[in-house]
Amino acid sequence: MPFKSLNLSEQVLRGVEAAGYTDPTPIQLRAIPVVLGGGDLIASAQTGTGKTAAFALPVLTRLATHGRTRVLVLEPTRELAAQVETSFRNFARFTDIRTVAVFGGVGYGAQRSELKRGVDIIVATPGRLVDYLKTGEISLRDINILILDEVDRMLDMGFLPTVKDIIARCPRERQTLFFSATVPPEIAAVASFALRNPAKIEIGVARSVTDSVKHALYPVAAEQKFELLEALLAKIDFDSVIVFSRTKHGADKIARRLKAANHSVAVLHANRSQNQRIEALAGFKSGKYEVMVATDIAARGIDVVGVSHVINYDVPEKPEDYVHRIGRTGRAQAVGDAFTLVSPENAGDIRDIQRFIGAKIPELRLEGFVYAPIIARPEQPSQQRGNRGGGQRGGGYGSGGPRQGHGQGRGQSGGGGSRQGQGGGGGGQQRSSEGGWNRFGASGSGGGTGGARRDR
Ligand code: AMP
Repeated sequence: MPFKSLNLSEQVLRGVEAAGYTDPTPIQLRAIPVVLGGGDLIASAQTGTGKTAAFALPVLTRLATHGRTRVLVLEPTRELAAQVETSFRNFARFTDIRTVAVFGGVGYGAQRSELKRGVDIIVATPGRLVDYLKTGEISLRDINILILDEVDRMLDMGFLPTVKDIIARCPRERQTLFFSATVPPEIAAVASFALRNPAKIEIGVARSVTDSVKHALYPVAAEQKFELLEALLAKIDFDSVIVFSRTKHGADKIARRLKAANHSVAVLHANRSQNQRIEALAGFKSGKYEVMVATDIAARGIDVVGVSHVINYDVPEKPEDYVHRIGRTGRAQAVGDAFTLVSPENAGDIRDIQRFIGAKIPELRLEGFVYAPIIARPEQPSQQRGNRGGGQRGGGYGSGGPRQGHGQGRGQSGGGGSRQGQGGGGGGQQRSSEGGWNRFGASGSGGGTGGARRDR
C-alpha cells in the first residue's frame, strides 16, 4: 500500500516524497491510521523501523496549519530531540507548521526566540522543558497530542518523576502516544495512567536483532582487545563504524588510541559539551570521521545512514542495549555487521544477551591475528551482575532460553559435540561445548589470575 492510500494530507505527502520514501514501513502502515483516528497508542518498535515518520506524518496531517502549541514530543537524549525535530521540520516543509527542539547543553537564546515566534510542535528533553515551564515560557495548556518516544530509555535514565509531572501538566483531553523498543512492567504502569484504551502495535519481536545485520562474537583476552579492534578495522571493508564503550573514560581512551593509529575519530558521550557532540555527529554523518566511539546513552536512537559496522568494544551491560547498539547498523533495509569483543569475564553478560534475543550469536576468529592465550578471570562484581548467583559460571550461556540452530562460527576453532549447559551449570562443572569461546568461560571463582581486573 503506498503512502497515498493512508489519508495523509497533500502537503505531508509532498514532504514524504521529498524525503525520498516510496513505501511505508510496517510500523507506519499500522500506526498512521490509529494516530489519524485520534486514538491513543502503545507501539513497541525498535529504532530503525521508521517509527519517527509513523507518528510525525499523521500528527502533521492532523495539525494541518500553524496555530497554538498543540504537540509535545518527549525524547530521552539531546541527539534524539534534534533528530526527531529535524524529521518533523522536513516532513512539514510544504506546510506553515513550526517546530522547535528544546534541549540542554546549549544556550537559551535561539530556543527562546523560536518559542516567542510561536511554535506548533515542541520536541524536548525533559530537563530543559521543565526550565521553560518554570519561567512560563512554555505552557502545555493547548497540548492535544503528547508523544513519548523511547519511553524505556527515558525511564532508565531516571526521568520517570519528571515525565509524570509533565504528563500531569498536559490537558486531560488529549491523544497520547507511547513508542518504546520494549514494554517492561514499569512502562505498562505509566501507560495505565497516561493513556486511554490504547491500541497496541508490536512490530517484529522487540527483542530481535534486525535480519539485515550479521552479528558475531570475537573471543579475545582482555588485554588484546584494542589490538583486535585495530586488526578488525584493518581487515574489514567498512564505510563507517561505531565502536561502543561502556564508559565515558573508556570511550576517550579508545578514541585516543585510534587517533594515534591514524583513524579519523569522533567521540560521543555525555561528558562532552553539546557543541562537541553536535560536531562529532555531524562529522560522522558527513564522512569526515570514519569511526565514532560512543557510550550507550549518547548513541541511543542515533540515525546515521550507512553505518556499515558496529563494534562492541565492551559487551553492553544490559541485554536490551545489545539490540539497540546493533540497531545502529542495518537501518532502513541497509545491511551491516556487528561484532562483539568478548573476554571470559563477560560470559554471564553474553548468556543474558543470548537469552534475551532468543538466539545464539556465532563466534568468529580473525584470521591472521595472533591470539594470546585467553585466561579466565573472575566475572564482574556481583552488584553489577545482578542476581545470577556466584559460582555458576561454568555452564555456558544458554540456560533455558530459546535456541536456534547455530552455525558454529565460520572458520573458528572449537565447538562441535554435545550440548550441555541447561540450567547454568552446576558449580562450574559443566561446560557447554557449543562454542569455542565458551571453552574459556570461567571455571569457578578466581580463574587463575588472582583478583578481579577490569580494563575500564
Ligand atoms: P526511525 O526508526 O524513525 O529512526 O527511522 C529509521 C530510518 O529509516 C531513517 O533513516 C528514516 O529516514 C528511514 N525511513 C523511515 N521510513 C522510511 C520509509 N517509508 N522508506 C524509506 N526509509 C524510511
